[in-house]
Amino acid sequence: MSERVPCQNSGCSATILPTTALKTGGTCMPCHQKKLALEKEAYILQNRKDVDRYKSIIDPVEILKIMHTPRKYNPLERDLPYHKSAQELYHQLTKGDRERLETYAISLIDQGDFDQAETILLSLVCFTDAQIERGLNALYHKGKYYPGILYKKAWPAIRDELINLVERDPANRNHLLLALAWIGDEVVVRLFAEWKENPPVWASNLYVPPENYAHEAGWELDQDSQKRLLFHHESFTFEVYGEKITGSESVKAAVVGLQPDDQCCPWCHGKLMVLIDFNLQDPLVRFLKLFGQRLRIAACMHCNCYGTVFTNVELDGSYSWSKFNTIPEFLPETEPDEELTCSTMRLSDRPMGTYEGAYWTLEAPTSQIGGHPAWIQDAEYPTCPCCLETMVFIGQMDMEQAADNEGIFYTFLCRACLIAAVNYQQT
Ligand SMILES: [Zn+2]
Ligand SMILES: [Zn+2]
Ligand SMILES: [Zn+2]
Repeated sequence: MSERVPCQNSGCSATILPTTALKTGGTCMPCHQKKLALEKEAYILQNRKDVDRYKSIIDPVEILKIMHTPRKYNPLERDLPYHKSAQELYHQLTKGDRERLETYAISLIDQGDFDQAETILLSLVCFTDAQIERGLNALYHKGKYYPGILYKKAWPAIRDELINLVERDPANRNHLLLALAWIGDEVVVRLFAEWKENPPVWASNLYVPPENYAHEAGWELDQDSQKRLLFHHESFTFEVYGEKITGSESVKAAVVGLQPDDQCCPWCHGKLMVLIDFNLQDPLVRFLKLFGQRLRIAACMHCNCYGTVFTNVELDGSYSWSKFNTIPEFLPETEPDEELTCSTMRLSDRPMGTYEGAYWTLEAPTSQIGGHPAWIQDAEYPTCPCCLETMVFIGQMDMEQAADNEGIFYTFLCRACLIAAVNYQQT
């Protein structure tokens, strides 16, 4: 056995075999590897170039194509971001631009690049009011029925094809039902009502009755088998106002988000947070048709992550914990160790499209009032514990935008009972 020698790195007490020393120049393997990593890092820092892929390009369609093209990671290149987000660029597209982008998405579909095509078509559908008839046709002919929101404005011929397929394509039935729910026109509403009345044989293979797929597209059948919307078409977006605002400082906005309150959560004893504070007198929130002074919807930022929390609300801004709350089964027994720091949010007066937040993977900030919710998991509209009606979505807080955290808090209201609900989803 050969004698071990000490590692040459001062401060390291390891001993090594002479063969290792020969390989590394006298240091132990961990020290050697650390040195190599540092050298590599220094090399990268010294030689890394900024790459502006958008340089001298002014056509928004070309800019978006570049943005959507996936790139191989190269440590020696640092991509300079474009000064506008994809969402902002989509807003400024003309009808002609949108058609060019759709044509590009179709060429991607033909090449089998569905991921990129999907992002483009989803962006067109959510951020603009584009019809994407040609894009849908291309997707449909490749047997791609997902995400259902793409089919939102599908014309009757495609709808009828989907209805036919539901009966005879069990492998795609789930996606087909979602697409139909998103179409949600009179024919689909009637079809869902028929299925509710007389469940088809294949319904027993689904996790939920077929008519329940409507929730994913924000509606349900009411008692008279009519379409009842579970969200508001009008929508406004929140913007970050600033770090924690205390009670004495007032934020001037129709709606303020994320203000700590003095009421405590009976489960964890932490302070409740007013997630959304509506000034009902402001014209911006008139679409909610709540005639009063103020509506405050509070949540426990800790316990709410484990289940739905209900509060009784009054239209003067007061609220109280509901007797209908049941402690979530999985609620940890320990108290939350740290308080979440989040920014106060303020509603901007810029109206946003109903579906701008509807597909959260498009990575647009989704704190909003009204509009379609940005479900991260399956749609989860709470049932009012008092009258048993499905509660209507009225706004959400995107924790990535507000607190550099993850997940979204969703708020709902039953107007008849004046009960609010908050639930939470994350990836
Ligand atoms: Zn060493
Ligand atoms: Zn709590
Ligand atoms: Zn109710």
